[in-house]
Amino acid sequence: MADAGATSSPSAAGPIEIKRRLGTLRYVTDSKDHAHITVKPAICAKCPHSFCTFVCPAKCYERIDGRLVFRYEDCVECGACDIACDQGSVTWTLPRGPYGVKYTYG
Ligand code: SF4
Ligand code: SF4
Repeated sequence: MADAGATSSPSAAGPIEIKRRLGTLRYVTDSKDHAHITVKPAICAKCPHSFCTFVCPAKCYERIDGRLVFRYEDCVECGACDIACDQGSVTWTLPRGPYGVKYTYG
């Protein structure tokens, strides 16, 4: 996984830091009833590694006071958490159109 401070490929305007690039994204957030990713708290409570907290580039997963806190609103739809979670907690689907992330600059 690339370092969050690393630079992306040079463009005509020069390299852009990944954090700044993430800041160019736009989101159309669906309601919680239609969250495109859900986790099962009972499974996360017993998880031995919390790999999701390491792989998510948008920091959607955090361990706070031992509890896994997940928010789908900032998701960039990379799919890494679905691959990293080997505990069967993550249910991952694409957002309903027209919801989700918008890559304004490609
Ligand atoms: S890796 Fe899976 S089970 Fe473990 S904390 Fe993350 S979502 Fe929960
Ligand atoms: S799909 Fe990617 S950005 Fe979205 S929550 Fe999973 S790891 Fe984070």
